[in-house]
Amino acid sequence: MDLRLSEEERRFREEVCAFIDAALDPATRARMESGRLPTKEQWVAWHRTLAARGWSVPDWPKEAGGPGWDPVRRYLFREALQAAPAPQPQQFGTQMVGPVLIAFGTEAQKRRFLPRIVTLEDWWCQGFSEPEAGSDLASLRTTARLEGEHWIVTGQKTWTTLAHWADWMFALVRTDPSAAKPQEGIGFLLIDMRSPGITVRPILTIDGEHEVNEVFLDEVRVPAENMVGDPRRGWDCAKFLLSHERAGQARVGIAKERIRRLKRIAAETRSPRGRLIDDPSFRDRLAAIEVEVKALEITCLRVVAAEATRAGDRAPDPASSLLKIRGSEILQAIATLTLEAAGEGALAAPEAEPDRPSNEVPSVPDWAAMSAPLWMNWRKFSIYGGTNEIQRNIMAKAFLGL
Ligand SMILES: Cc1cc2nc3c(=O)[nH]c(=O)nc-3n(C[C@H](O)[C@H](O)[C@H](O)COP(=O)(O)OP(=O)(O)OC[C@H]3O[C@@H](n4cnc5c(N)ncnc54)[C@H](O)[C@@H]3O)c2cc1C
Repeated sequence: MDLRLSEEERRFREEVCAFIDAALDPATRARMESGRLPTKEQWVAWHRTLAARGWSVPDWPKEAGGPGWDPVRRYLFREALQAAPAPQPQQFGTQMVGPVLIAFGTEAQKRRFLPRIVTLEDWWCQGFSEPEAGSDLASLRTTARLEGEHWIVTGQKTWTTLAHWADWMFALVRTDPSAAKPQEGIGFLLIDMRSPGITVRPILTIDGEHEVNEVFLDEVRVPAENMVGDPRRGWDCAKFLLSHERAGQARVGIAKERIRRLKRIAAETRSPRGRLIDDPSFRDRLAAIEVEVKALEITCLRVVAAEATRAGDRAPDPASSLLKIRGSEILQAIATLTLEAAGEGALAAPEAEPDRPSNEVPSVPDWAAMSAPLWMNWRKFSIYGGTNEIQRNIMAKAFLGL
């Protein structure tokens, strides 16, 4: 298998990088570099810049409004955004509910929702997890009962990323509690977040950020036309969506950008024996991570090249579980090394707290103050999208037949 990029693919990557360089607002880039989430306004503006170029839904086929790229181009595009660093197109719409609607939606649902995902008129969130249903998602208890032309939904979702920004939620709901198996009798329902009966409560994570929420649904009326596919077979949509969510979670571009940055930081940071970058222990560990990133990149290209040859079959390779595990472990190792480089500077509060009196805390660079919050925040990579333990189970089944 030839893993080298063709001339055309190299030109494509250059075109994407040049576009990002020219079009990305410096404030958005700076925020991404700091490791903070972009603001909603920055994210929407960037998504629309990509939409104007025809690039906001990179995984969609042409007939659905996408660029119709092959897996290699999709990979190169995503990596270029990560390496810039620039926000990805809003993933809950473009990578999750969008592909589900393309595969399972009615023509009316496609007409209504897909164009609004392309231009991010609607911000989507994912209502799958519940307090007692995470890895064991099929044990979810939020119910939906049909009354005339409406589903009446009651229950609780949790860990719902950016629900406080969302216009819509795609949710798994139990439509038939008497079904023989827990996976049966589940529906995939599109819920307007402005519906009466919805309460969104923030969960502040250990780094102090508001990224995730609890969503309570109390007798929420949802038009029957918002059910995607068979109301008893939403599990098929969920499986399809989760396998797509995992693909592209290697985050090689982020790792490369963070390593580049860490090298720059280490060259400017003093250690007891001179510059940190010259410290043999630090250098060895950084080099080891860099080798791991290279290996991950080659594995990604191998998976992507194999996908490109499976014409017509758009299902991701089970090896995407491996990419997710290694990608998250590598980012967590980079976060640990950055924390060590920051030393006691990691104890400072990040700049986001403008009222902090400047004479109480010695001034430390923002990257150092952000190193501890980021270390804590990045624990999420081995949890969401299916925990790393669950990914290992998937691989054990797919590759070892266990
Ligand atoms: C930052 C963040 C954002 C998230 N965003 C969303 C979102 O937008 N929408 C959404 O629906 N969900 C979201 N989630 C939820 C996420 O999908 C779940 O946290 C995840 O599926 C794990 O479920 P759980 O938290 O209930 O843990 P549990 O399933 O209770 O797992 C606890 C531990 O047990 C392990 N474990 C469980 N079962 C097995 C098994 N069979 N074999 C081996 N080990 C096992 C797990 O790996 C884990 O270490 C988010 C989570 C986080 C942290």
